Order: sequence, then C-alpha cells, then structure tokens
Amino acid sequence: MSDTHCNLIAGRWRPGAHARENRNPSDPSDLIGLYACAGIEDVAEAAEAAAAALPAWQAQGTQARADLLDRIAAAIDTRAVEIGTMLAREEGKILPEAIGETRRAAQIFRFYAGEALRIPGEALASTRPGVEVTVTREPLGVVAVIAPWNFPIAIPAWKIAPALAYGNAVLFKPAELVPGTAHLLAQIIHDAGCPPGIFALLMGQGVDLGPALIADPRVAGLSFTGSVATGQRIARDAAVRMLKIQLEMGGKNPMLVMDDADLPTAIAACLNGAFFSTGQRCTATSRILVQRGIHDAFVEALAAQAMALRVGPALEASSQIGPVVSAAQLGSNLASVQLARDEGCEVLGGERLNGPEGGYFQRPALFLSARNGMRVAQEEIFGPCAAVIPFDDFDEGLALANDSAFGLSAGICTTSLRHAGAFRRGARAGMVMVNLPTAGVDHHVPFGGTKGSSHGSREQGRHAVEFYTTVKTTYAFDGAG
Ligand code: NAD
Repeated sequence: MSDTHCNLIAGRWRPGAHARENRNPSDPSDLIGLYACAGIEDVAEAAEAAAAALPAWQAQGTQARADLLDRIAAAIDTRAVEIGTMLAREEGKILPEAIGETRRAAQIFRFYAGEALRIPGEALASTRPGVEVTVTREPLGVVAVIAPWNFPIAIPAWKIAPALAYGNAVLFKPAELVPGTAHLLAQIIHDAGCPPGIFALLMGQGVDLGPALIADPRVAGLSFTGSVATGQRIARDAAVRMLKIQLEMGGKNPMLVMDDADLPTAIAACLNGAFFSTGQRCTATSRILVQRGIHDAFVEALAAQAMALRVGPALEASSQIGPVVSAAQLGSNLASVQLARDEGCEVLGGERLNGPEGGYFQRPALFLSARNGMRVAQEEIFGPCAAVIPFDDFDEGLALANDSAFGLSAGICTTSLRHAGAFRRGARAGMVMVNLPTAGVDHHVPFGGTKGSSHGSREQGRHAVEFYTTVKTTYAFDGAG
C-alpha cells in the first residue's frame, strides 16, 4: 500500500482497508494511481476528531480563518498547471478548461477569505424598554461535503471554502472517479496549516460513506451535489434525524433561440452550452428551442460547427472536447442516442469515436425534430447531446422552456428587449442567461435552481452563509428599563 494515496483523518494521512484504481478516460491503459477507500469506521474517527477540534478552531477567530483561506488560494494558483493536468487526466476536461476551473477554485477560496471577515449580524431595537436584541450567525459545526466528478475542484471549493470561512469543520467525500484532484486539494489545505481534524478527506464509495456521514450524530449539516437519485436518497436518509441539507442536482436546461437572435451569438452560445466540457455540466444546454423562422438556417450552421468540433485526448492541445468521463457514462450516452432515434428524432453525430488509445470519445449529438415531451427532452443525459425543438412564438417557447421537472439554468438568444425582459421574468429557473450560454457562472453570486434541480439554500457568494451558519437571537436587559 506504500504507493497508495491516503485519506486525511484527524490530521494524519491514513491508508484504507483497500484502494481503488484511478484511470484516464482519454486512455484507460494509463493508471493514474491507487487511492485509499475509507470505511465507515474512518467516518466515525474523522467526525470525532472534527468535533474535538472545533472549539479551538472557532476560538482562533476570523482573521486566522481568512489567512488560512488566503494561503490555500495562493497555493492553488501556484500549482494550477499541476492540478489542472491531474484534473484533465482523470476527468477528461481539456487542459485549458481544467486549469481555468482550478484558477476558479483559487478565486473562490480568496472570496471566502474576505467573507470570513464580513460575517453579517443585526442589532435591532426591542419591543420592550431596556432590552437589546442582536441576531448573530454561528457555525453549524461539523459539515459533510459530498461532491460529483464533473467539477473536481470548483465544486469542492465552493462548499469547503465557505464552510471553513464561517467556522465549521469539514468532512470531504469526493466522487469515486476523481480522487486525484481531491487529494491534491486536501494536501494544499493540510499544508496551508489547517488545524488537525478541521478538514478530513474521505475517499471511497458513496453508497457506504454517504449513509455513515448522514447518520453520524456529530455531523450537523450536509452539502451535496450530484444526481437526482442520490439527492433523493440523501433527503430521505437525512429526514430521519432532521439533518440540515443542501442539494444541488440535475438540469435539463433550455436555450430559446428567437427569430430575432443574432445568429453567430446564438450558435456560439449553443455550441458552448451544449458541448463544451463534453456536455458534462449540470448547467449544460440540453434543449435547444428554436423559433421556426430561424430554425433551418440556425440548425444548418449549428450542425456544421458541432460536427466539426475536434474530439480528442484531454491533454492534447488540438482537442476542443475531451472524452466522456467513464465507460459507463459513455454507454448511457449511446443508449440516449438510440432512444432519440426510437422516439423519432433525426440524429446527427452521437457515435462513439475511436481514439488512438481506446478512450471514451463521442461525437457531439443533435437530436433534430425533437418534441419537448420526449424522454430525450425530459431526462438528464449528462453528455454531449442536445435535443432541438421547434416552436412558433415567444409564449410557446417560454412554456416549453418551463415544461421540465428541472429549473437550474435557462437562456434566451434575442435582440429584442421585450423578449429578453419577458424571459427573465417568466423563466422558472434559478439562473437566467440572455445571449450567453446556459453554463458558465460567476463565483461571487448565488448558484442554484428551482423545482427538481435544487433543495435548500443557495450556494456561492454571500448566500452561502445561509447554509453554513445557524442564526442566534439574543435578548439582553440592561436593568434600567
Ligand atoms: P452521483 O449522484 O452519482 O454522485 C455524487 C456523489 O454522491 C459522489 O461523491 C458519490 O460517491 C456520492 N454518493 C453516491 N451514493 C450516495 C449515497 N447513497 N449517499 C450519499 N452520497 C452518495 O452524481 P455524479 O454522477 O457524480 O455527478 C453527476 C450528477 O451531478 C449529474 O446529475 C449532474 O447534473 C449533477 N451535478 C449538479 C450540479 C449542480 O450544481 N446542480 C453540479 C454538477 C453536477
């Protein structure tokens, strides 16, 4: 086990009972490394150490937290190429995107370094003479963070950074497919001087570790990003002991292309939204709703550019789109392509591509002449596949955009102020994009959705304080009333 990458438990690097191989989806013969799998006894030990370390951590005060987060941000920036290369190698995002995501993580830690010094509170006049009322925010305590594979450093960063900034301890469970990036992040947090126990890395199987984290009485909150099915299971398990949870789940994000859209802007937004990062973004455009007047010209131009996108190894400079993350995800994407045919769509692209090393490459897919009621237009695929759905007028387009179990991101391409305004008001989504891809967000403002996409308070920006703190109302009588 000497070359196995260890978990971080109670401030010490510890091997697990067994380890898991981490392989490169661009070239599955490339073994990146072995990563320890934590067991449920490790969860208990990490939770115990976290709870024990909390009083001293909180007594250090906010400047110490701000300084720690600043050091973490600086170290991520310094090692951005190394981390980005690991991320591209294990997740399959092309290198520029992977390095960009890494730098985003540094920005997030830096943002919350500032927020640690700006924890909000209120002082109000009481209704009773001589009484003062203050409303303060206190840390939740020990927080579990469960992350998906598609943003291996940005999503952990936007959960771990606010958790630490607001004075909590973190038990971090990364996704099975991306332990390498998580391990580098844990090293950085540890080496930056995070007190032993305040941050734990627990790599391993979600089906084992998730329920253990939820059931542990020392865990006071759980922030999760991942699939709807897992989120629903977490919600059910957490309800047993009323655990505070925050769930970010799937999307089936629409982009409305109006007749009055600027064609190059609309094509660029749809190409980026649907296919960049191999379509493996919860905010990816998976329903392209096109008004009939522009439909044929738009589809012809979009299809030409989509089919010309260069799909290849994540670390190769010429690649515009990397591989699908795993053989299982590729199989599921190919099944969706077949389903689109079975449901009556004309399918462009979508086939498996033979890379030189047997990687999981897939050509971008457009499902033409789709209808919004089809399964391929309602169920999340999470790959480089988008359904193209024609519509007649704005009201119909908006109604179709909203006709989904999800409500994460929604976009419109239009040059009409009236259409843009009506869409901003009418879209039932947590994030609305005008003449921009449905994916791609700022780190200092709230992130999250409506309906089946999200549950609980928003992530990111100042809104993260809602989840990572609890509110205390204090009444004090000065004796003179
Ligand atoms: P997933 O649900 O399979 O896994 C997510 C995490 O949950 C992993 O760490 C996994 O180990 C863990 N897990 C598995 N079973 C568990 C259980 N029973 N209890 C607790 N944890 C458990 O999702 P994924 O395949 O890693 O990620 C893809 C999904 O994530 C997509 O549906 C995508 O839309 C979603 N996603 C959402 C957002 C968002 O912010 N809304 C962002 C990125 C990804």
